[in-house]
This record gives sequence, C-alpha cells and structure tokens, in this order.
Amino acid sequence: MADCLFCRIVAGEIPAKVAKRTADAVAFHDIDPKAPVHVLVIPTRHVPAVRDATGLEGEAMLGRLLAFSAQVAGELGLDAKGYRIVTNTGPDAGQSVDHLHLHVLGGRKLTWPPG
Ligand code: AMP
Ligand code: ZN
Repeated sequence: MADCLFCRIVAGEIPAKVAKRTADAVAFHDIDPKAPVHVLVIPTRHVPAVRDATGLEGEAMLGRLLAFSAQVAGELGLDAKGYRIVTNTGPDAGQSVDHLHLHVLGGRKLTWPPG
C-alpha cells in the first residue's frame, strides 16, 4: 500500500535498521525503543491488524510471524532472561501504524499488567 509507512519500509523506500528478513516478514528496530531491545516484526504483505489475518493463509502467516519473532528474539540474545511479544490492535490499545506488527521487547524487567 503506497501510503503505508511499514509497506514503505518493506520496499526500502524508508530506511530502517533491519535485524532479519525472510520472503514474507521483516524484523527491524523500533525508532523509539521502549526497552533495550525493541524490534518490530511485520509481514511483507499489507495486513492492517491481527484481526485481519483471516482464513488459512492469514492464520498460517500469523504462525510464521510468531515463530519468526521468537527466532529474532533468540538471535538478539533474549532467550536467557526472556522477552515479551505483543501486538496492539485499534485505538484503545494505542495502535499507531495500521500495518500488523508484533513488538518484541526485552533486555530489562518488564512490568505487568501493561498500562
Ligand atoms: P503501535 O503504536 O503499536 O502501532 O507501534 C508502532 C511503532 O512503530 C511504535 O513503537 C513506533 O515507535 C514505531 N515506528 C514508527 N515509525 C517508525 C519508523 N520509521 N521506524 C521504526 N519504527 C517506527
Ligand atoms: Zn502496509
């Protein structure tokens, strides 16, 4: 989608610090990190939010995205002490970019519940 920030990152039109990439997903460092490690994992295909990843292909994509996020977390050294994977959906959750993204957060003790 031409006017989507994360589609433009996928296309290389906007620079990002890419941590890992596959044919259907990209992991890149958040521009405003909320933890020592804060990576966003997105599908290369434009999907607005997790609720839009429907049908067999959407569900399979979500599974791959979650597994890819865990791989990225491990490669960034988070396995020993742990990490959080979270996705915000809609205004109450504070979703600010309407392209599905998983936040991978780690490198410090994370509080629960989130605010
Ligand atoms: P959310 O608020 O859950 O929609 O998350 C969007 C995230 O995208 C925020 O954590 C932002 O800091 C991050 N973000 C916005 N623009 C960029 C960018 N150009 N590169 C990397 N991360 C970004
Ligand atoms: Zn997009």
